[in-house]
Amino acid sequence: MRSSRCINDDQIGHEMHNLIADLYPLCRSITGNGLRQTLNILRQQIPLEIHEVPSGTAVFDWTVPREWNIRDAYVRNPHGQKVIDFQKSNLHVVNYSIPVQAKMRLDELKEHLFTLPDRPDWIPYRTSYYNESWGFCLSHNQLLQFEDGEYEVLIDSSLEDGQLNYGECYLRGESSDEVLISCHACHPSLCNDNLSGVVLATFLAKKLRSLTLRYSYRFLFIPGTIGSIAWLWRNQDLLARIKHGLVLVDVGDTGKFTYKKSRRGDGEIDRAAVNVLKHCGGDYQVRDFDPYGHDERQYCSPGINLAVGCLSRTPHGEFPEYHTSADNLEFVKPESLADSWTQCLSIIHLLENNRRYVNLNPMGEPQLGKRGLYRRIGGPKDGGVEEISLLWVLNLSDGENTLLDISERSGLSFDSVKSAADALVEHGLLRPLPQ
Ligand SMILES: [Zn+2]
Repeated sequence: MRSSRCINDDQIGHEMHNLIADLYPLCRSITGNGLRQTLNILRQQIPLEIHEVPSGTAVFDWTVPREWNIRDAYVRNPHGQKVIDFQKSNLHVVNYSIPVQAKMRLDELKEHLFTLPDRPDWIPYRTSYYNESWGFCLSHNQLLQFEDGEYEVLIDSSLEDGQLNYGECYLRGESSDEVLISCHACHPSLCNDNLSGVVLATFLAKKLRSLTLRYSYRFLFIPGTIGSIAWLWRNQDLLARIKHGLVLVDVGDTGKFTYKKSRRGDGEIDRAAVNVLKHCGGDYQVRDFDPYGHDERQYCSPGINLAVGCLSRTPHGEFPEYHTSADNLEFVKPESLADSWTQCLSIIHLLENNRRYVNLNPMGEPQLGKRGLYRRIGGPKDGGVEEISLLWVLNLSDGENTLLDISERSGLSFDSVKSAADALVEHGLLRPLPQ
């Protein structure tokens, strides 16, 4: 595949944001109709197989839970007014709340109410997947207006045997070696956390479908934790094919990029991501692996240990809007989404083109001048090749070093060394080795 430059990033960013807006209202969870509706919408964009794992299935040390669905929920005050209404925001109900229909005093109700006193206008996002309970989330300012008296509580939800769903999009390349791209799709109306990764993965798959690829690509749209564990449990026989992987999350805010390395720390994906961010011209940070975060925890558990890193802008928990109603459609920006898309394509471009070459004229430097390769060609700004890149590629192409090795050692961008290698192959000075 070719470099991802020259793409209309402006349009892509708005298309990605529009898809987030379509998915935003759905009440997703780790199981249930909201997750299925989400996958069905994505299936209109990319070829997506929707898998089912029955409730009660043991997956490694976990059990697929019963399926949760919700139709309505509200709290009425002593005057009969709806003071909390699920129809206005699906964050109002603690995700996985058991069904409730009751009347109670305010002090009893308060044990089931969650607010953020520090951010009094925002609704928190809470879940209760693995212990049976119920609750409502609301803004602290809303709670301050509640008066004593008897309140009516309704949560019209169900917890029944059903299934856990996940979506899988497989794009076959020339090799059966795979690149895994994973995102979680289990949060309700939250944009940066979950939907930004979902639309980025979708638009990457859309783009890659149109290209001839060296690697095969597998995109997973899964409920967090239980989804990746269920997928790993079902696919143990293909894990050896996965050579590189990325978890995509929190990629729509305006913060700088953060790359969290795989547990291995020195995987080609780790080096590729760092290389791209180093040369992309923007601010970024690189972090070592730690066993907290998103589904990279499962892909990098010791018995699995895949080379899967995590690409974010501002990581989870480090932006105040995280897991609140303020992680909304305004918080994620088309420009940030487009930028994340471009950097991901650059990482993929690097993986696709990283290979070893042999210098066919290794006894002294070849005479570049007589081949029109020395001081005749334009600089990189007008699409030409820098002499220094030619010299580095010639010198280090001894069959041992990859283009990524050469980029790292020379400090030149991967694109520069790739362009130099292409020019040298064209002039018969370099030969690619089989992959
Ligand atoms: Zn989250």
